[in-house]
Amino acid sequence: MERIYLDNNATTMVDPRVRDLMDIFSVQFYGNPNSLHSFASDTHPYMREALDRLYTNLNVNDDDDIIINGCATEGNNTVLKSVYFDLIAKSQKKQIITTQIEHPSISHTAEFLESLGAEVVYLPVNEQGIVSVADLKAIIDPDKTALVSVMWANNETGLINPIKEIATLCRENGVLFHTDAVQAVGKVKIDISDIDLDYLTFSAHKFHGPKGVGGLYIKNGAPLIPLLHGGEQMGSKRSGTVNVAGMVGMAYALELAVEALEFEDSKVRRLRDKLEDAILAIPSTNVIGDRAYRTPNTILASFKGVEGEAMLWDLNRNGVAASTGSACSSESLESNPTFKAMKIDPELAHTGIRFSLSRFTTEEEIDFTIDIIKKSVERLRAISTSEF
Ligand code: PMP
Repeated sequence: MERIYLDNNATTMVDPRVRDLMDIFSVQFYGNPNSLHSFASDTHPYMREALDRLYTNLNVNDDDDIIINGCATEGNNTVLKSVYFDLIAKSQKKQIITTQIEHPSISHTAEFLESLGAEVVYLPVNEQGIVSVADLKAIIDPDKTALVSVMWANNETGLINPIKEIATLCRENGVLFHTDAVQAVGKVKIDISDIDLDYLTFSAHKFHGPKGVGGLYIKNGAPLIPLLHGGEQMGSKRSGTVNVAGMVGMAYALELAVEALEFEDSKVRRLRDKLEDAILAIPSTNVIGDRAYRTPNTILASFKGVEGEAMLWDLNRNGVAASTGSACSSESLESNPTFKAMKIDPELAHTGIRFSLSRFTTEEEIDFTIDIIKKSVERLRAISTSEF
């Protein structure tokens, strides 16, 4: 049976060109880059080239840092805990402002820091599902606020927040600003030198790179207390033997994703819109958020009278892999933070299905998916007890 992968916000296929490049680091250039022999020094040019690629493709100033780590969960933890230990625990600036729609690697870390004495404010989103700069302006306080953390694009809806304006507001108030850009990197243009931010997290496996490697951008001068102590890797900012293959793979994957941004914005967007139009043509369906404000690959749809998880299984049985929202929170459908923050009718929230495309998605796959969705909705509505 044909299988179609429309869960690219959870993770992506490694681009075959990236996989080919990474192979040599398992069997040829496998030396620990910190050792004092040629097996080690053989890897250095590749690491330098990888860093150059990351700096170039995110347009990072030379004075600033990018540290390579294990994932975006680690990057997000590092930022919040650094600011806690460097500022919140030692000064009157005790407040973290974040949002109600963040990934658990932010929200659960913020809750943990609350238990240590931080004051955390969870900003709501407006009716469009977007963080409002005016709401932030109303509560940010130069004497109290240590950090603002707002995700660039939401993993469930794809909705994009006004990051540049938020960054400027934070800088005007002397407040550190972090953005979790996991769902934006490789999907929309990111020019770090054009934005007043202090920290940005990203993860290779979301843009056709390998799993188990991520990056954290840190502006020169922003506090950074290592999450992991024990070695001098990454200038002592992130201990642990460097994952050279992962680092090289991530940097190349980023370069390829940036090269493909125009394609993402035209071909991927067109296929997404085609699928979305077909979904909306089914009676009593809904798509969350205006498509003009979303990443080009994402649809969060709901089909009245159809339970999300039941539809997910039905689609899967028929060869289409989608998601009920964040893969990380699939056990807790009702507590989906985006639905809650957008005050979406609980019945609709229960019926949410996310389709996330990639540059490898084909027109034939979308045509096939449209057919499968129509049949699945018909089938599940026929056995549903609720009226719609
Ligand atoms: N932030 C967001 C917005 C995400 O979508 C994810 C992945 N679901 C993460 C953070 C965590 O990424 P990683 O898997 O690299 O830890």
